[in-house]
Amino acid sequence: MSETLRTEAIVLGRQPWDEKSELALLFCPQLGCIEALCGGIYKSASSLRGRVEPFNNLEIQLVRGRGRWRLTQAQTLKIYPQFYSDYPCLCWGSFYLELWRALMPAARGSAEEGPGGEEASLYSLLGQALEALGAFPHKGVGVSIWMLWRLVGLLGIAPEISSCLRCHTDQVSYFSAPAGGTLCAQCQRGDEGWRLMPETRKLWSQYRKNPWSVALKERFLPSTYAQGEAYLWRQLTYHWPLALKSRRFLKIGERSLESFGY
Ligand SMILES: [Zn+2]
Repeated sequence: MSETLRTEAIVLGRQPWDEKSELALLFCPQLGCIEALCGGIYKSASSLRGRVEPFNNLEIQLVRGRGRWRLTQAQTLKIYPQFYSDYPCLCWGSFYLELWRALMPAARGSAEEGPGGEEASLYSLLGQALEALGAFPHKGVGVSIWMLWRLVGLLGIAPEISSCLRCHTDQVSYFSAPAGGTLCAQCQRGDEGWRLMPETRKLWSQYRKNPWSVALKERFLPSTYAQGEAYLWRQLTYHWPLALKSRRFLKIGERSLESFGY
């Protein structure tokens, strides 16, 4: 028996399936990341044509039969032309899509099998990150910091940054992902921590508490953004090991993110 579901989705990617169909990778609030077959997508009358494109936010109808989701209808809720006209914006946006794809294994079971809860929050966070990047196309690194704070919170691995993890002094100068936050010079042992600039901590507290529309208006030095992003990324990947191809293309100004040496 087939099962029909109407839902929203953000398109993470698409790949050829056979001469008549493609396979779309979608992130939905109920199901998380799923693969759905788009039959007849090349026909001029297909409602999927031109809509099932990466970054697009859609209202869709899914039908499940023979162990596979099929995408039967799609209507556009939101598109982001910035991602196709601005290369740095495309790189950061592609990174967010690849990250969401990596966070959850594709092709989960049916609606009943989904664990629920976290998927809806992750869907909402991805939508907000894309919207923030659409509004601030040259602040991909800032959007990433804002998004990573919320993501580590959702996953229950947010670092402690208000004081030293061990002696609780306010005078911290190191950050350690394995220890789970900030450390003072006395408590930092060997090379467990990385030097933390006071400005980075200031940036973090702004980004952690404010909505993106407020946080992204603040201005910091490129090196502060680079450190703030890189340390949060290490915090995430220490707990969730991920290797994403798209991170190689990320730049802050003219420099690659990696060239900052964090
Ligand atoms: Zn200490």
